Amino acid sequence: MKKAVSDRMEVVQGDITKMEVDAVVNAANTSLLGGGGVDGAIHRAAGPELLAECKSIGGCPTGEARITKGYNLPAKYVIHTVGPVYGGRPQDSTLLASCYKNSLQLAVDHKVKTIAFPAISCGVYGYPVEEACRIAVDTAAGFLEEHPSIEKVYFVQFSEENRQVYENYLKQIS
Ligand code: ADP
Repeated sequence: MKKAVSDRMEVVQGDITKMEVDAVVNAANTSLLGGGGVDGAIHRAAGPELLAECKSIGGCPTGEARITKGYNLPAKYVIHTVGPVYGGRPQDSTLLASCYKNSLQLAVDHKVKTIAFPAISCGVYGYPVEEACRIAVDTAAGFLEEHPSIEKVYFVQFSEENRQVYENYLKQIS
């Protein structure tokens, strides 16, 4: 991979709601009406105005993304994307890659320079993290090559195990 691209991706261990970036990505569900996991954490930290804006959007199909303001978060925007529920089907990887691509495209459209992703689909949606990590990093790397306006993509991992998986893969390809 081109050095410039690997320098623009970083793994962080922690809580995505604390990230001081232009946009954080939410692993939402199709209703966009909030849920558990990272979705619940983002809604709690952003405050009730986020849910009100999400209600006005009226849902989001799997693989697509929608943008809202960040309200009480340090991030200016929340990009809500809906990952696939893992079922071992060929379309799972296509849909997961679409989540990353569509989120990054919305970021470019809104002049976002720094963006933080959680491990989309790797919680209750059951995606194996090694596989999801490769899709996340490969898709982001491909996008960054084509879009110099994005300065940094952070992959925020809640757990030490996931952080290790991401760090190993990033080292392997850079
Ligand atoms: P999904 O329904 O897409 O699987 P989850 O929210 O259940 O989404 O989990 C996605 C990933 O986000 C999991 O790896 C989970 O550990 C992680 N996660 C949960 N809360 C946070 C948080 N506050 N910051 C960053 N990652 C989080």
